[in-house]
Amino acid sequence: MAINAGVPQGSVLSATLFLLHINDLLKPGTFGYADDSTVAERYTSSARASGSQIQSLREAMVGRLNSSLEAVSAWGNANLVEFNAAKTQACLFSAKRSQFSPAPTFRGAAVPITDCLDILGVTLTSTLNFGPFIEAKAHLAAKKLGILAKVRQYFTQEQLLKLYQAQVRSCMEYCSHLWDGSARYQLDALEAIERRAKRIIGNDALVESKLQSLEHRRRVASLSVFYRLHFGESEWRQRLSQPRAGLAVIAAISPLFEEWLERRHGVLTYRLTQVLTGHGSFGRFLFLIGREETPGCHHCEDRPEDTVEHTVALCPAWAEHRRVLRDVVGDGDLSRPALVQAMVRSEGDWDAVSSFCEAVMLAKEEAGRVRERTSSRPSRRERHSGRRGSRDDLRPP
Ligand SMILES: [Zn+2]
Repeated sequence: MAINAGVPQGSVLSATLFLLHINDLLKPGTFGYADDSTVAERYTSSARASGSQIQSLREAMVGRLNSSLEAVSAWGNANLVEFNAAKTQACLFSAKRSQFSPAPTFRGAAVPITDCLDILGVTLTSTLNFGPFIEAKAHLAAKKLGILAKVRQYFTQEQLLKLYQAQVRSCMEYCSHLWDGSARYQLDALEAIERRAKRIIGNDALVESKLQSLEHRRRVASLSVFYRLHFGESEWRQRLSQPRAGLAVIAAISPLFEEWLERRHGVLTYRLTQVLTGHGSFGRFLFLIGREETPGCHHCEDRPEDTVEHTVALCPAWAEHRRVLRDVVGDGDLSRPALVQAMVRSEGDWDAVSSFCEAVMLAKEEAGRVRERTSSRPSRRERHSGRRGSRDDLRPP
């Protein structure tokens, strides 16, 4: 039997030798974990790009993908590693529904574009909907829990808790930062498993003292990934298109990180999140995403740049709403850190900030719709017939 290249399985040196062997395969844009390699490319276009512009951007992207794949193939030839072209998958992540025509090719074969991709035990769908994946995980966890239920008489409560944590919880927490934003009803499937586990272990106080809630674990995972993206990997920091918005949220939340996580009140609503992140009906943001010609505020005569700070603390249009907010937040400081401080302080303060955001953002959205209706320019809806309405464009995916 011919062996082209390899390392003995199970030896202490194997992993290191393997990493040495594949070290020069991993170039920017090529990611690897053990024997699983992924090549990624992306394109960005302005919101006003035409169909043919998008098509040429896509073709250029596939061209870049193909040259990365050729490099992978050439590396394989030089290093006696055979890649299985038939096991290669491609997936396109996009909100656009239009047909994606040129498929990438690898070792002479077209790589079919599929609706989902399995990477290291996580199923990514082209729409980034994690519903089916969460369902599958809940199903697997339920099976494992069933076994625990059958053998419970042989173990103490502490041992059952350890087994639950190691065998069942782990599969419900794996990569949870990826799907933390999923719909409540999808996440509820996992909560049901947790409740059943509590009944099997039979000691709620013990479980609660040793285990943090699933939601808490997801929040910690998401925040730590977010932190690493901004402060750890410089390449990522450059890639994030609007680092200033993200950094402002981190600056606002990080001094109160523990309080934020431990709080028992307050729901992050859609419009509250818009104010914290700056991704919403703010002139600056609308200008950056190509929805507005200038970043100026429509409610001020001299059209200063409409940022979160302008809307919350300065713009005269919202003076009445601001007066109510000032009474709650106190000492006149309406910066984002001050808002977050008030929000974690008490439920009443959280609600005051939330109501302010809700009322002001709603008014700004409404004003935007009126402008769009009365403007002489053809509306966005008419220019892109068949596209979603302007309001939905600001919705998170
Ligand atoms: Zn203004």
